[in-house]
Amino acid sequence: MMHLSGSMTISPPSKGGIDLVHEINKLRKKRNAVILAHYYQHPDIQDVADFIGDSLELCRKAAATEADVIVFCGVHFMAETAKILNPNKTVLIPDVNAGCSLADDCPSDKFEKFRAKYPDHFVVTYINCTADVKAQSDLICTSSNAVELIKKIPKDKEILFSPDKNLGKWVQAQCGRELTIWEGSCVVHENFSEEALLKLQLEHPEAKTIAHPECLPNLLGLADYIGSTTKLLKYADESESSSFIVVTEPGILHQMRLKIPSKIFYDVPGIDGCSCNECPYMRLNNLENLHTCLLNMEPKIEMEEDIRLKALRPIELMLEMSS
Ligand code: SF4
Repeated sequence: MMHLSGSMTISPPSKGGIDLVHEINKLRKKRNAVILAHYYQHPDIQDVADFIGDSLELCRKAAATEADVIVFCGVHFMAETAKILNPNKTVLIPDVNAGCSLADDCPSDKFEKFRAKYPDHFVVTYINCTADVKAQSDLICTSSNAVELIKKIPKDKEILFSPDKNLGKWVQAQCGRELTIWEGSCVVHENFSEEALLKLQLEHPEAKTIAHPECLPNLLGLADYIGSTTKLLKYADESESSSFIVVTEPGILHQMRLKIPSKIFYDVPGIDGCSCNECPYMRLNNLENLHTCLLNMEPKIEMEEDIRLKALRPIELMLEMSS
């Protein structure tokens, strides 16, 4: 129990009188499990994770782990990616309903028809998609490495980019080459309010605005720096500026405040001031269901071996090609 000034105390998170963090730590050891968490997870989850990162870093950690069990505190496509890389390990996700609007926006059958219209194109797919869609791709990318990877594809090769149209348009501009882009989007990043951002910029003229490339182009046009969650964190750390307006899921602010306590971070609300800037899928995971999944060793991620093998190839190519 943590004691604050006066008589106030904060009790550790508990379920039916059980200290959840203590129990999670016991089970993690017993199962030889590693807990991986995305930056968009609730701070409680980030605080118990063995490793926190963006999609690319988590992918690398999942590929390198020696643990027998991977508990993926993120969304379903991320846990699937861990399973694709680790067929002989048990991969768990605290809430199996933790999906992703972007992955849902790109159903496998429709993607197949889209690809069929461009048979000579090289198919680059953002990691935020299902294993079935990965299996139909030539190369997977993340928001960290999309620009770097696309610049490495020969200039005479035409490219299909899926499923995020905002990331696709941003990458297209960065690389100076035309992409054929699938029209998908993320419900969270499409919901940031331009009005709220402009208001924050007026209130804090000294603050740098940093944004994730899944945001709409009008919001990106107002940013001083655009990058993946890890790159935003790095930029905030290395920048001379002491305050930042952060246009991405506010879960990242927890790590920013922990790692760079001397600086100030403001999050941007959604349209109409709603809290829809929080990813409703990411937030389905919590300490209770993390504890339950380690206790019961489910829900497990399973997939057909032929899909896994087809999906593995473009992920391995990404890991080889990214520096
Ligand atoms: S923030 Fe958007 S892209 Fe990321 S998991 Fe949530 S819905 Fe999907």
